[in-house]
Amino acid sequence: MKKQKNKSTKSSARPAKGSKSSSLAGADPKRVRAILQKLDEAYPSVTCALHYDNAFQLLIATILSAQCTDERVNQVTKTLFAKYRTPQDFAYATPSEIEQDIRPTGFFRNKAKSIMGAGKKIVEEFGGEVPRTMDQLLTLPGVARKTANVVLGTAFGIAVGVVVDTHVIRLSNRLGLSRNSDPKKIEQDLMQIIPREKWILFTHQIIWHGRKICRARKPNCAECTLEHLCKAKDKTV
Ligand code: SF4
Repeated sequence: MKKQKNKSTKSSARPAKGSKSSSLAGADPKRVRAILQKLDEAYPSVTCALHYDNAFQLLIATILSAQCTDERVNQVTKTLFAKYRTPQDFAYATPSEIEQDIRPTGFFRNKAKSIMGAGKKIVEEFGGEVPRTMDQLLTLPGVARKTANVVLGTAFGIAVGVVVDTHVIRLSNRLGLSRNSDPKKIEQDLMQIIPREKWILFTHQIIWHGRKICRARKPNCAECTLEHLCKAKDKTV
């Protein structure tokens, strides 16, 4: 595995202000390399579980996935994307109608505002194209770093950060990769110890491992290929 030399990566490699140091035993480079190798063996080519055909659809699906399962989002977007095909279609939809269309994903009023607002901004300020920088993406309604990282990494192959969702939070703590609980600080910790070229795949691998094996309740440690590397207090073996 190559050492991290990229300047821009180096500049982001300082712990966030107020974060607990990531120089914990779990972040030892050898150990991190071993974890990445085991993840590569178990999940060589995993990707996002959300269904999409383009960056805009991935953006919408990711906004809808807040507090909702990817399976439920995929059921909803199957008909949603057939009905609303472009950012314009979302931007100028009837709010009450779109609310009903996405209702099964929960928090449907806020989500409707976000996806309509994102569509409008993309049409009116970005020429109808999903922007490709973190700063621009963060100006879209309903988009924080997690969603921006999903779109940049998965739709465009641009690694500017690490997606930190509920699975990444839990596994980063269990595997000793971060002591923090704030997603922004965990992201900084992971950016410091994971080589930049692995950021996109690592996210998907950890999310899959969190879903299949290292579940929130009762992690299946007996089936976990990382077990010898894990010192989590709630291990089940
Ligand atoms: S050993 Fe258990 S707690 Fe540790 S990563 Fe594996 S499943 Fe999760």
